[in-house]
Amino acid sequence: MQTEPQYIADGMVVSLAYVLKVDGEEVSRMTADEPMEYLHGHQEIVPGLEAALTGKRIGDKFSVTLTAAEGYGDFDSENFEDIAREDIPFSDDLEIGMDLEVEDEEGNAYLATVSAIGDDAVTLDFNHPLAGKSLDYDVEVVDIRIADPEELEHGHAHGALFYDELDFDDDDFDDDDDDDDDDDDDYDDDEGDADEE
Ligand code: ZN
Repeated sequence: MQTEPQYIADGMVVSLAYVLKVDGEEVSRMTADEPMEYLHGHQEIVPGLEAALTGKRIGDKFSVTLTAAEGYGDFDSENFEDIAREDIPFSDDLEIGMDLEVEDEEGNAYLATVSAIGDDAVTLDFNHPLAGKSLDYDVEVVDIRIADPEELEHGHAHGALFYDELDFDDDDFDDDDDDDDDDDDDYDDDEGDADEE
């Protein structure tokens, strides 16, 4: 019989509510009603936030400010690539600022942002949209549970938002930010209910 975990530690699935602000502007929010779930100790969230959460209990609320290095990393001005327009089937539909998922020849997927569109080539920015930014989090620990064996094997939580059906190889994402997927969802539903405070 397993007892309920008291403190956040590696191998636990944590449900979080949070507000993330960058330069005083809200960029993402998860509420206690529909919290984000992640597997602690598996780099599913930015390293500084994961470190700040270690040892916290259900109901704990705190604020933390992370440097870029503790967040999505420093902005790398080399991390851009030009792709020939003929290699992008839908290049006429691209707009600057659009996020794309790009696959390399081995099938590894990367997130990129369209940074320039020329006549012959499109320049993609492979920096995370929040690279180089200081991150201000207000966090509430909504729930903690022991991960099930499949979650531990996959290295991520199987929350309501997770889409394992896609059946991609998790290893492909290992040296990428696994939390990219979640963050992008957050970007999409930024607008809305200011039910905090
Ligand atoms: Zn999985």
